[in-house]
Amino acid sequence: MVEQNRLWGGIEAGGTKINCAIANDAHQFLAEERIVTTTPTETLAQIIAFFQVQQQRIGDMNAIGLGSFGPVDLNPASKTYGFLLNTPKPGWQQIDVVGTLMRSLHCPIRLDTDVNAAALGEHLSGAAQGLDTFLYLTVGTGIGGGAMVNGKLLHGLLHPEMGHIPMPQDKRLDPFAGCCPFHGNCLEGLASGTAIAARWGKTAEQLMPEHPAWELEAEYLATAIVTWTLTLAPQRIILGGGVMHQQHLFARIREQVRAKLDNYWAVPDVLENMDDYIVAPQLGDRAGMMGAIALAQQSE
Ligand code: ZN
Repeated sequence: MVEQNRLWGGIEAGGTKINCAIANDAHQFLAEERIVTTTPTETLAQIIAFFQVQQQRIGDMNAIGLGSFGPVDLNPASKTYGFLLNTPKPGWQQIDVVGTLMRSLHCPIRLDTDVNAAALGEHLSGAAQGLDTFLYLTVGTGIGGGAMVNGKLLHGLLHPEMGHIPMPQDKRLDPFAGCCPFHGNCLEGLASGTAIAARWGKTAEQLMPEHPAWELEAEYLATAIVTWTLTLAPQRIILGGGVMHQQHLFARIREQVRAKLDNYWAVPDVLENMDDYIVAPQLGDRAGMMGAIALAQQSE
C-alpha cells in the first residue's frame, strides 16, 4: 500500500536563481522559495536553511530531487559524483553540491541535469506524455538540452551538452563573435538570451517581433533542431526557457525546420503537423520543478 503522507523535496538549480520546494505524493506544493544564485557558500546555506525550516514545520522528506545546471558529474561511481565541473558560473567549479546537501539534510539526493529534470516533468504530466523519445531544450541565459531516449533519460559519458554544438555561421550576415566563454560561436554563444542581448544591445523581451534578430535566432535554433532530429529521431521537441516566451518565435522555427527537412525526412505527418512536433512546455516554467519532485520520487 502506498503511503499518502510522504514528502518530497525539489531543487531546480540554475545559474541565476534556484527554486526549492516541498511537495506531497499528490504533487501539492506545501512550501516554495526562490533563491538568487550567488556564491556557493551563501547559496547552499540558503537552500539548506529552507529545507531545515520546512522540515521542522511539516516533517521529514523522503528524498530530494535536484535538477542542476552544469556540467555536473552524474556518475555515482565517480569520486566527484554530484560536483559541478567546469561550469562557466564563476566560483562554482568543483563544488560538491550533492555531498554538501546530504551532509546537512540527511536524506537521499537524486541528481540529474536541469534540462533532464524538465524533460521528466513534461513526460509525467506535460507535453511529452505517452512518448518515449523526445527532447527538451531550454533557450534562456544559456542553452541546454535534455533527452529521453527509448523511455530513459539520456546520460551517456557525462550528459548531453546540446547548447555547445558548433554552428555554421555566415559572418557576412552575422559578424557577432559569440559569447560562449569556451567556444565563442557555439549554439549557446550565438543564440542564447545572453547572445541576443550582446549582439543587439537589447534583451529578447525588448526586441519587437519584426526585428531581424528573430529570423537569425530561428535559423540557428532550426539548424540545431534538424541536427538532433536526424540524430535521435525524437517524437517531439519541447522548447522552453525565457527566450521562448516570445511566442512568435515558434512559427519561425517550425517553418525553417520544415524547409530544412523537406524532400528528405520521410515522416510526412511531422512535416504536415509541425505545430505538434515543436511545442512549448505544457508545464511552462514549472517543468523543472515538477521533474525535480519526480526525480525524488524515483529514488524509492
Ligand atoms: Zn559553448
